[in-house]
Amino acid sequence: MARVPGPITLVEPLSGSTAMLIKINAIHVRKRSKYQEIIIADTEDYGRVLILDDYIQSSYHDEVYYHESLVHPAMITHPQPRDVLIIGGGEGATLREALKHPTVMRAVMVDIDAEVVELSRQYLPLMHQEAFNDSRAAVVIENGLAYIERALKAGEKYDVVILDLTDPYASDIAKPLYTAEFYLKVRSLLREDGIMVTQAGSSYYFPEVYDATLNSVKSAFPVVVEYNVWVPSFGYAVNFILGSLGHNPAALTAEEVDRKLRERGVSTLFYSGRTHVALMHLPVFRKVRRKEA
Ligand code: SAM
Repeated sequence: MARVPGPITLVEPLSGSTAMLIKINAIHVRKRSKYQEIIIADTEDYGRVLILDDYIQSSYHDEVYYHESLVHPAMITHPQPRDVLIIGGGEGATLREALKHPTVMRAVMVDIDAEVVELSRQYLPLMHQEAFNDSRAAVVIENGLAYIERALKAGEKYDVVILDLTDPYASDIAKPLYTAEFYLKVRSLLREDGIMVTQAGSSYYFPEVYDATLNSVKSAFPVVVEYNVWVPSFGYAVNFILGSLGHNPAALTAEEVDRKLRERGVSTLFYSGRTHVALMHLPVFRKVRRKEA
């Protein structure tokens, strides 16, 4: 039944030896910024997508699975997240989800690439849904590494830090933000009961990179929780690693999560108390290597 080739076919790499062929019906943007190649296109199966350096970053038809899973476990686990820092997240969907919490007084989104943000504003309205214009939001165009250094010097403090960066194995610009040194800096930026969460790519296709990221988070935080969610347009279960200075998301019951969502008036399409508990209990996917009998 292989009828993929549309007017255009995207070859979406999952690893060096597996890729998905994706039917593209229209390309709205294709340009190289100072940092990466940016494509915004309409696909048959996933709707409109943002692609950076060949990797799908988010797609209209399945981005809620990713962005709600990235944002709400940390935001719900923190009792009163007022100041939130997002590094990456150029299309604005992570900012959109964080701003759903009325506790948030200030949400700073730092992305290295102005063109990703500007093109997302224009071509990806369903992603940001005007989050960039929220009076609580501030968008800063800067390398997240430099921003963290400046914020530390300025004595800034945050309750939740969300790292929504390109994959650690996909782009050199994000790599330094998956290290123990960086996570220790993030820890210094957090208040005493702060929480950090990062997207961590694929533990199945890139186990060494995943384990290095996991160990780096473990070196900076006393409480570390791993979880993951299937994202069809990625072709794999994307991993998240949460580091906390105290509160443990795995300790929350479905009822407690639902109560907090209700109290805060946070509406979601995928995340709920039951989803939270499921996410906290799903094993991390890795290659199962067995000796031939
Ligand atoms: N959802 C995507 C995923 O799962 O891979 C990530 C979304 S977002 C598009 C990734 C963002 O990280 C991009 O907008 C990119 O410009 C930004 N980025 C990469 N390296 C960065 C850095 N060092 N500082 C700030 N932003 C960075």
